[in-house]
Amino acid sequence: ENFNQLGVNENLVKALEENKIIKPSEIQQLVIPYLLKNNTDFIGQAQTGTGKTVAFGIPLLQRLNPKIKEIQVLVLSPTRELCQQIAKQIFKMTKYSEKVFAEAVYGGEKIDIQIARLQRPTQVVVATPGRLMDLLERKALDISKVKTIVLDEADEMLSMGFKEAIDNIIGQIHPENIKWLFTATIPDSLKKLTEKYMAPDVHKVT
Ligand code: AMP
Repeated sequence: ENFNQLGVNENLVKALEENKIIKPSEIQQLVIPYLLKNNTDFIGQAQTGTGKTVAFGIPLLQRLNPKIKEIQVLVLSPTRELCQQIAKQIFKMTKYSEKVFAEAVYGGEKIDIQIARLQRPTQVVVATPGRLMDLLERKALDISKVKTIVLDEADEMLSMGFKEAIDNIIGQIHPENIKWLFTATIPDSLKKLTEKYMAPDVHKVT
């Protein structure tokens, strides 16, 4: 199977091919068609290195409206490196599509620089939960219009102590958003979080 057959549009396929991403990985085959079709919460259990960034990156790009210059997608991720990788991957995928503006914000970089970057039109924010909380307290961005929230490496975020920040962030988003969660493991703390925030009929893929 190729990405075309999974429902991925031609411009995205072309950009993927240029990056030698030609044959969909197992998780991509399972996740991409599902997320393109369904407007529901989703849990994907997958390790890093399996291609999960592309698995959620394509559906999020295909679902957002590039004409609307407000934050439509929020991706939470545990580390600076992951945030940068995800934002870079998203940017690369849109090489042949209408421009989508993604910003990565994380701890360890001067907050003023990130506040300035967020003044530009931004449609996707990729953030570590702690830094995003700081930015929200400073009213540096508006996440009230977010339609899709992706929790990447959710187990890692919880073990790093980000539970409170995640609770707070989810509380500020429009309640009708959908949540896509990716994790390697499902410890009790994560099970509780999914039961609290995700629809009871959440679709799971392992
Ligand atoms: P991830 O699991 O998202 O961290 O991706 C791991 C690496 O695999 C990244 O460098 C991706 O660019 C690459 N990758 C993702 N999907 C594919 C694919 N279908 N074929 C080849 N490489 C891929």
